Amino acid sequence: MTSFVKRTCGDCTLCCKVMAIEALAKPANAWCRHCKPGRGCAIYAERPAECESFACLWLVNDLLDERWKPSRSKLVLTTSEDGIEVRCDPGFPDAWRKQPFADDIRAWAAEGETCDMTVVVIVGQRVVLVTPDREFDLGVVGPDDRIVRELEGTKVVGAAVVKESEISRGEW
Ligand code: SF4
Ligand code: SF4
Repeated sequence: MTSFVKRTCGDCTLCCKVMAIEALAKPANAWCRHCKPGRGCAIYAERPAECESFACLWLVNDLLDERWKPSRSKLVLTTSEDGIEVRCDPGFPDAWRKQPFADDIRAWAAEGETCDMTVVVIVGQRVVLVTPDREFDLGVVGPDDRIVRELEGTKVVGAAVVKESEISRGEW
């Protein structure tokens, strides 16, 4: 069973690189100007609310062992309304293919397929939808884009990126 743990970030600052911070107009995959990599935030007491409230999954979930610590794995895990997002440090774009990460990601995809949850790997601007037996390289997925899956039963047999406006117009 998952339990919530009180870990600390320690020498990890990877989310300050891979995550976008709207309040600072900081794009994803670029170090925040306030970050001292490996040491912490230079404006910690005044950091934006979105930084203050952020916690990656490794920080809170003891199912993820020390190997998953982002500074070590080069992977930052978060949840979205669709499932799990795995963000790769763009300096280590193949980190998610190493073990134990690749097998864990595949296992989450298998579990996700039974309950309509997705697992996506984000490498720079590229998004890859991972299923138990396939990868769908979806290219660049923007904030107004949505991933639409083609299902046979619960099995994902296709995936495409469409504009949210097309979905709301009923074109998908
Ligand atoms: S990626 Fe996770 S562990 Fe690393 S600094 Fe951010 S919240 Fe802390
Ligand atoms: S403001 Fe601080 S906590 Fe937020 S991204 Fe920048 S360095 Fe990280």
